[in-house]
Amino acid sequence: MDCQRENLLSYSESHAHAGIYIHIPFCVKKCPYCDFYSISDLSLRKSFVTALLKELQLRSQPELKVDTIYFGGGTPSLLSIEDASKIVESVAHNFRLMDNAQITMEVNPGTIKDINTINENNTKRVGQKTISCLTLT
Ligand code: SF4
Repeated sequence: MDCQRENLLSYSESHAHAGIYIHIPFCVKKCPYCDFYSISDLSLRKSFVTALLKELQLRSQPELKVDTIYFGGGTPSLLSIEDASKIVESVAHNFRLMDNAQITMEVNPGTIKDINTINENNTKRVGQKTISCLTLT
């Protein structure tokens, strides 16, 4: 390997940032036109979160810088604040979550009482500055 290529590789490795997409496969009901994978058996949420936390642990890469976490679905806002916080905390524990990482969650307005609750709780618990909420109709 020539010196220039080696330098480029070490530069890209040291500056590489990853984004983590987390699919939350639950919806209040399955819309007939929707191709996204989701189910409406909400009783499985707890075991899903447990399995997801285990998978994050198994895929742990403490040196990998993560600058975005995106919760998509499905309807991620069907997660409890506690479970969403556990997932973000697990990412922070198993990867190198950047201080200015952006955390985005797709939100169905019908599934939450107060959108500010998500923002305040997650911000305080994981020390992140930005949580964006997208609304789906
Ligand atoms: S992801 Fe959206 S469109 Fe698809 S089933 Fe769930 S609520 Fe319906």
